[in-house]
Formats: sequence, structure tokens, C-alpha cells
Amino acid sequence: MTAGRRHTWIWIGWFGALLAVAGGLLLLRTQLDKAHFALLFLLVVLGGSAVGGRVLGIALASVAFLLFDVWFLPPYNTLRVADPFDWLVLLTFLVTGIVGAQLLERQRRETDVGRLRVIAEEEAKTLRRTDRLKDALLASVSHDLRTPLTTIKGIANEIARGGDPTRAYVIEEEVDRLTTIVADLLDLSQLASGEMVVRATVNTADDVVGAALQRVESAFGERRIGTVLEGEWTRLVGHFDFVHTMRILSNLLENAAKYAPLDAAITLRVSRQGEVLLFAVEDEGVGIAEADRERIFEPFVRGEGATRGIRGTGLGLSIARRLAEVQGGHLDYFPGDVRPSRFVLSLPAADVTLE
Ligand code: ADP
Repeated sequence: MTAGRRHTWIWIGWFGALLAVAGGLLLLRTQLDKAHFALLFLLVVLGGSAVGGRVLGIALASVAFLLFDVWFLPPYNTLRVADPFDWLVLLTFLVTGIVGAQLLERQRRETDVGRLRVIAEEEAKTLRRTDRLKDALLASVSHDLRTPLTTIKGIANEIARGGDPTRAYVIEEEVDRLTTIVADLLDLSQLASGEMVVRATVNTADDVVGAALQRVESAFGERRIGTVLEGEWTRLVGHFDFVHTMRILSNLLENAAKYAPLDAAITLRVSRQGEVLLFAVEDEGVGIAEADRERIFEPFVRGEGATRGIRGTGLGLSIARRLAEVQGGHLDYFPGDVRPSRFVLSLPAADVTLE
């Protein structure tokens, strides 16, 4: 139904209601008091204003005013009024009806304006966020993708002019780096658009920790990672995506190895708190400045100081946090005294009996 037709039906409906009420009251005219007529007519006027707006309200109030005068105030069937005080009743009725219609209209406008303002603010916020992401993406693409490309080009040139062919391994390294950046960017866009596939199944913490340790083996070299499974391992079971979780843990462990000095201890601790499985990656490195503790989870943001001379794009933690969230979990940073960096991944625990 078009808006215009709907509007016409609303008018017909409310005038019909007014006539029906007037007809009903006419049958009871001798038993009821003026106040009853006024209140029932007012009900119809305010109902009409609330549904159909101010103009309908005022139109209903005017017609009700006439019906009230002609049918319910003696002498009947004329516009004349026998008792002068009845004019007071009539005028009070008319003014109350019109003021009520105006107030309802103002209320409706304010609600509409409020709703529109909220929508506009939300849109502006989303636009600002997308804009910031776009700026960061442009800055990152121009810097992070161009540096390896320049290196690759330089070395390829060197080799072509008879330079040392073993230098080719640097090309390989830089190409790997580029591939990782491109893959991370794709993952980030999939996570942002909600297209990342999540396969949550029942897994043990033991298995996923083992897989993550294996994955970071080469980055760690001689360096050791202490693992602590708190409580019965059979209780350390969760409902999560194995591959995504392994990736989050590897990322946290690689960061610990990257940012904490060589002699600083790194620990991966797993525990269960009620319905949540907690994986804490702790290191005794420099920690993260207070101002950076939330920002580091934003794409392309790198912490101050700690990153000097350490390569990275600032994508790891933002992807890791989103991967935790798509599985119904969280990833947060908690500073500690003994172990300044403590990243805690929490995932839904599962209640199953393991053999
Ligand atoms: P990247 O390592 O590529 O910079 P990440 O998103 O993984 O990106 O990390 C973001 C920032 O968080 C890092 O640049 C670093 O400043 C800080 N950070 C992450 N892990 C640690 C850690 N274990 N110790 C100190 N700083 C860290």
C-alpha cells in the first residue's frame, strides 16, 4: 500500500471511530455526564493524533467539538447551548484536544530527530574508522611493500651483472615477506567483511599448544619456551577452530621472541576458569607502553620504542584478536610486574570426558 493510501485509510478509520463512539454515547445520553462524553471524545482525538499526526488530531477535535455541542449539550440538535457554563466545558475540550495533538506531534518530531541523529553519528563513526584504515593501508602498502621490492630489484641487478648468486636467498626472504603481507591483508579483509570461515570443533589445549610450538620452532632456534598446563589436562578442552587458534598462539609466541631480549623467559600457560579456556603467553621483555596497550590491536599500529630495528607490519595482533572473536573468544593484553607482557587468549571451554 502506498503512503498516500495508507494515510487516507487512517483518516477514514479514525473518523469512523469518532462516529461510532458518538453513536454509542447517543444511546446512553441520558445516563451519562458531560465529563464522560468529553473524556471519551478526547480519547479518540489523542489516539488519532498519535497514529495519524497533528492535522488529523485537530480535525478530529473540531468535529468532536461540533458533535459534543449538537448531540450532547442541551438543547439537542442545535448549536446553541442552554447553560453558559457548558461553553466552558466545550472550550476546555477543544483546547485540550488541540494542545494534546500538538504535544504528541512535537514528541514524535523529537524522537525522529533523535533517531536520525543517532543513525548519522553511527554512519560518521563507521566512515571515520574506514577512512583511518584506508590511510593506514595506503601508508603500509607504500612502505612495507616497496622496501622489499627495492631490495629484490637491487639484488637481482647485482646478480645479473655477475654478482654473488648466493645473494639470491635474500630475494627469497623478501619474497616470502611480501607473500606474508599480502596473505595477512587478505585475511584482514575477510575478517572485516565477516567472510572468514570458522570451523569450531572440540580440541584439547595440549594438541593446539603442541602444534603452535612446532610451527614457531624455526623462529625460536635455541630459545626455549616454558609450557605450563594448569590442572588436569583432560579438563583443558575447548570448542574452537584448531587452525585459527594455532595461528593466534604462534603469533603471540613469535612476538615474544621478537620483542623480548634473548635471555628473557617466555612462558605459555594454559588454565581453565569455569566455561573459559585461557592461554596466556608471557614474556619477561620490555612490556608495552600504557598508551599503546589498546592501539596495538588496531591494524598497522606498531608500538613505540620496542619496534626499533625490528621488522613488522603491525597486522599480527589485529588479525589475532579478530580470529579470537570469530570463535567467540577474546584476546587481551595484561601488564604484569614480573612478566611485563602477558597476552591472554580466552576461548569457550568444552565439557567432554576424554579417555
Ligand atoms: P608487528 O609485530 O608486525 O609490529 P603485531 O600486530 O604483531 O605487529 O604487534 C603490534 C605491536 O605490539 C608491535 O609492533 C609491538 O610494538 C607490540 N608487541 C607485540 N607483542 C609484544 C611483546 N611480546 N612485547 C613487547 N611489545 C609487543
